[in-house]
Amino acid sequence: MASAFEPGHIPPPPDGQPAWWLILAGSKLLVDADNLPPRAADAAGLGLALGPAHYLGLWQGRPSYTAWALEEEAAAPAGLAWHGLYGLFLGWPQDLFALGARAKQILTWERRNRFCGACGQPMQEAPDERARRCPLCGLTAYPRISPAVIVAVEREGRLLLARSPRFPAGRMSVLAGFVEPGETLEGCVAREVAEEVGVQVAGIRYFASQPWPFPDSLMIAFTCQWAGGEISIDGREIVEAGWYGPEQMPAIPPDSTIARRLINHVLGGVERLPGVPWNPNR
Ligand SMILES: [Zn+2]
Repeated sequence: MASAFEPGHIPPPPDGQPAWWLILAGSKLLVDADNLPPRAADAAGLGLALGPAHYLGLWQGRPSYTAWALEEEAAAPAGLAWHGLYGLFLGWPQDLFALGARAKQILTWERRNRFCGACGQPMQEAPDERARRCPLCGLTAYPRISPAVIVAVEREGRLLLARSPRFPAGRMSVLAGFVEPGETLEGCVAREVAEEVGVQVAGIRYFASQPWPFPDSLMIAFTCQWAGGEISIDGREIVEAGWYGPEQMPAIPPDSTIARRLINHVLGGVERLPGVPWNPNR
C-alpha cells in the first residue's frame, strides 16, 4: 500500500470507489473510530450538508477532498466523531499530517477570500489553478502561507527554552515568531531572540521546516549559538525563560512537532518528564 501523500490540484475522474474526506466544522475534523478521515464515493455519501469540495491529492493511493460542514454544530454521522484539529494532527504520522495541513490551509483560504480585497466583489474559483479571482478587477488570491521561524539557541550544551503566556506553567519550548515584511529569515531569527529574551546569537543554520496550519504558517527551523547578553524576558510574548540541559527538562512539545525535533537534535534525544502532558485536546 502506498503510504505517501501526493499533493494535487486536478482530481482524477470519478471511479465509484471511496475517496478520503477531510470535513471541517470550526476547528474540528470528522474522523472514524481509528481517528482517520472517513471514506465515501462522493460528498453525498457522508450525510452532511457541505460547502464546495477541494481536491487535495492522493493519500494511500486514493483521491482526497476537503470541505466545510455548512453547520458548525452539525451532529456527526453514525460511526464518526468530531475531533479537535490540534490534538489530532499532533498524533498523526507525517504524511497524514501533511494531508490534514493542506486541507486546513485551503479551507481557511477559501473562507477568507469570499470577497475581493480590492473592490469588494464576490470572488470566484479560478478554473485553471488553485486561486480565487475577482470577476470585476481581476485580483487573484492564492492560498496564503505565513512564514515563521523557530529557533534553538545553544550555549555550552544547554538550550534556551521559554514559556509563552499561552502555555500553562511548566510547559516550555524553543522561541518562534513571524517573519516581518522586508525581512530575511536570518534577520528574523536574530530579531526574535533579541526582542523576546535580550540575547545575541551567531552561526544561524537552517535545520528543517514543517507546515503549521494554525491557521496558515510554515515553520522554518534554525539552530544557532549564544553570542552575548543575559536572558531578559519581555514579559509580554515570553513570561519565563532559561538555559536547560538534558537532565532538567520541563514539559516540552510532542515528537511530531518541529520544536521537539530541534530540541532532540540539540540535546541528543531527551525524554519528556513523565506525567506532564503537553498536548491538550483542542
Ligand atoms: Zn476586485
